[in-house]
Amino acid sequence: MLLDIKSMYPAELEEYILRLSEPKFRAAQIFKWLHEGADSFDEMTNISKQLRQKLVENCYISNAAIEKKLISSYDDTKKYLLRLSDGEYVESVLMSYRHGITSCISTQVGCKMGCTFCATGRSGFSRDLTASEMISQLQTEEKDNDIRISNIVLMGMGEPLDNFDNVVRFLRLVSDEKGMNIGMRHISLSTCGIVPRIYELADMKLQLTLSVSLHAPNDEIRSRTMPVNRRYGVDELLKACRYYAKTTGRRISFEYAMISGVNDSDECAAELAKRLRGMLAHVNLIPVNSVTGTGYKKSRNERMNAFINILSRSGITATVRRTLGSDINASCGQLRRSAGAENGAKGEGK
Ligand code: SAH
Ligand code: SF4
Repeated sequence: MLLDIKSMYPAELEEYILRLSEPKFRAAQIFKWLHEGADSFDEMTNISKQLRQKLVENCYISNAAIEKKLISSYDDTKKYLLRLSDGEYVESVLMSYRHGITSCISTQVGCKMGCTFCATGRSGFSRDLTASEMISQLQTEEKDNDIRISNIVLMGMGEPLDNFDNVVRFLRLVSDEKGMNIGMRHISLSTCGIVPRIYELADMKLQLTLSVSLHAPNDEIRSRTMPVNRRYGVDELLKACRYYAKTTGRRISFEYAMISGVNDSDECAAELAKRLRGMLAHVNLIPVNSVTGTGYKKSRNERMNAFINILSRSGITATVRRTLGSDINASCGQLRRSAGAENGAKGEGK
């Protein structure tokens, strides 16, 4: 089996190069090529032909090829459907903000978590992504637009903490000074709340922003829309969030998709305010994107404002998240579904 060379840490690459009886400094050269986006070993012109041949025989360079691209006519947000080497598809979204260019990448092909409002969740799970496949998504976008990405959000397809080892490897590689050098403070990881992994991540003290998809103030509502809540309830989840905030000193960002008549009442806001009291936190309200077959509808603006007012009266900051690329359904799950690249039902975006 060929080795996934772009997923190797610098130290692992060195060890590997030494095993090939080559000088150690070659590892640094190769690492640089790989993380600058080389697609083939032939491009590595400062490496001897002989070593390049050995690499071709033993390793592969993962890539993510553009299968389809949608560009928003409102705000230049670009949504990509990317084809991986085994023919699986994932989605990535590139967004421009005032403070730089953000890429939203996928961490799995599909997702096991089955949230009822989510297009990815409704289309099942295929496999985990490797660290190099996460890097390849960024590289493909950088090349396609001749830009440098400054921020990353792990909010595309998949549950990052369900692919923990590969995601941590990706985080370390992408923030490596000799690699893409995107600092942890410029990266957000979004999770549906796999509690033991939140503790593990906190103890790594990585300076990441943790986004938690809460979407409900209590177990009764949350378990209806997010099956993961039957395993790790709201109390347990918020305890882990407090631990994360305390251990890392970083503010937690709570995602809350407003679904009309499901989780958007004044009572829900009051309950949420009570539960988040005293925590280093911010709430992002997102009008739910309707996904075919769910019957969910987004809350009206007045409802969102009333909700925010109740939270802010309790000292909890909340904002409505700016929705970019709304004409191309920029959130993930839908392109892959419409490409028929998964088994099962058709539908629309997250
Ligand atoms: N699995 C992770 C990250 C990917 S999902 C997680 O769940 O956090 C990224 C975000 O999109 C999550 O906050 C998720 O709850 C949200 N989301 C999924 N479907 C949505 C929809 N139909 N409308 C609005 N947000 C949605
Ligand atoms: Fe998976 Fe996140 Fe979608 Fe839930 S919301 S199904 S955890 S991708």
